[in-house]
Amino acid sequence: MKWSRNYESCLKCKTTLFHHKGHGLCTKCYDVVKKIHEVENSNDAELEKFRIKYIPASKINIFKSENIQSQKEIIKKEIENKSLKYIKQYGEIESENIRVDIVKLETILNEISRRIGNNDNLYTNHLMSFNSHFNEKQRKIIALKLLYMLVK
Ligand SMILES: [Zn+2]
Repeated sequence: MKWSRNYESCLKCKTTLFHHKGHGLCTKCYDVVKKIHEVENSNDAELEKFRIKYIPASKINIFKSENIQSQKEIIKKEIENKSLKYIKQYGEIESENIRVDIVKLETILNEISRRIGNNDNLYTNHLMSFNSHFNEKQRKIIALKLLYMLVK
């Protein structure tokens, strides 16, 4: 069965992992494009929430010395690259017999912690419990749910 009436797969991520939403894009990539437009059209004050979300705390001061248009370009590229990276990881974990170990979970959780609190390594010291409290299958489900949240 075809992915959508006119497309074999999503134009952006090239996968069929998520449903078609519009213009040849899946639900995830559609939101990514929307977010990139939002960044492009934001004024300095509105850009702040994207700065917090996408630029590591350690780099924020250097980043703010850039002019606003290059800041926007950097954030847009960051959104684009990260989203495609997480869609790819989602696909790999879903389709293959890939082990979801604490290292993989750590990367995902630290990205989430960075986005919500701009803290680069909030979870680093708490991750061993993921190995002892969750089995392989559960870790896989956790990783998929978290990646799904991250892609946008
Ligand atoms: Zn897509």
